[in-house]
Amino acid sequence: LSKESQQVLSAHEWLTKLYHHLIRYTKDGKVGLDYLQERGITNEAIDTFQLGYAPNTKDFTATFLQKKGFHQQMLVKYGVLTRGQDDSVTDRFRGRVIFPIRNHLGRTVAFGARAMEGQEPKYLNSPESDMFQKGKMLYNFDLAKKYIRKQNEVVVFEGYMDVITAFQSGVQNVVATMGTAITEVQAKLLRRYAETVVICYDGDNAGVEATYKAAKLLQEIGCQVKIASLKDNLDPDSYINRFGGEAFKREVIGASKTFMSFYMQYLKKDFNLSLEGDRLQYLEEVLKEIANLDSSVEREFYVKELSTEYNISMESLLGEIEQHRQKLG
Ligand code: ATP
Ligand code: MN
Ligand code: MN
Ligand code: MN
Repeated sequence: LSKESQQVLSAHEWLTKLYHHLIRYTKDGKVGLDYLQERGITNEAIDTFQLGYAPNTKDFTATFLQKKGFHQQMLVKYGVLTRGQDDSVTDRFRGRVIFPIRNHLGRTVAFGARAMEGQEPKYLNSPESDMFQKGKMLYNFDLAKKYIRKQNEVVVFEGYMDVITAFQSGVQNVVATMGTAITEVQAKLLRRYAETVVICYDGDNAGVEATYKAAKLLQEIGCQVKIASLKDNLDPDSYINRFGGEAFKREVIGASKTFMSFYMQYLKKDFNLSLEGDRLQYLEEVLKEIANLDSSVEREFYVKELSTEYNISMESLLGEIEQHRQKLG
């Protein structure tokens, strides 16, 4: 590690400890603690994830780190401090709840910082740098990996709060992409540790679109993909808060679907299935996808569903699939 990298890690470690101490044990951090407790986060989870609070002052962090001998320029570069127009620096994460982002070795390399009173942006992350590339890591991978290995399965969420809420309620093979899009690097990392990847994104539009893309990518890379859908626009953290971890395991993870069965539903959004022409096009698209399945049992399984739902004979549907398969070679 270069001298600068060591400095960066050291500064992030000091801040992680400082912000965490403030939220757990001081009056200044009480707003942050109240906020997390309000959202059902236990003290144990606050400790496990080293959650913290950055005081709402201009230069608390700057002064603290300066006293430790860190260079201001480095702190600005890695986004702990912000340089204003008048060249003065201020604490970037002030007044926010802090989520340390740890690399696979458990070292903090960046922060996610959440506003508590509706300020924008809701989350402020450290900028991308040589130490932190969001698309190359997964939030909580360091703590989750032993559970992922053991279960040969990983659950992928969007956000910090999804991971923390699941983890504290006993679902521990969980990571987050820190937003919706999953990258190839992240997908390959997951593949190395587990055969099955359960995608559990938010139930909103963005989440559903991202689910489709993630599923495609993960499947190409050779993962066994499952898709866990949430009803009513819930996200995993709000679902678990409402129904508990056991229900989440049983009724969300346990009821997760295959990619095909998700796709058959997902594709409907592009068609008006009360129209004959649309129905035929929809069927054509689905059959093309089914033709890609290696297992004849699986192909027949989905064809049977279509046959029943659209009242078309198995023979003609399977015939269509054979044609597609011949084209595939
Ligand atoms: P909360 O439950 O606190 O409202 P959330 O995780 O449900 O948070 P989402 O809006 O679903 O919030 O976003 C999912 C994840 O995407 C966040 O946890 C965060 O990692 C990332 N994210 C969201 N908004 C931003 C942003 N403005 N900048 C950087 N990352 C963001
Ligand atoms: Mn979301
Ligand atoms: Mn969410
Ligand atoms: Mn949420």
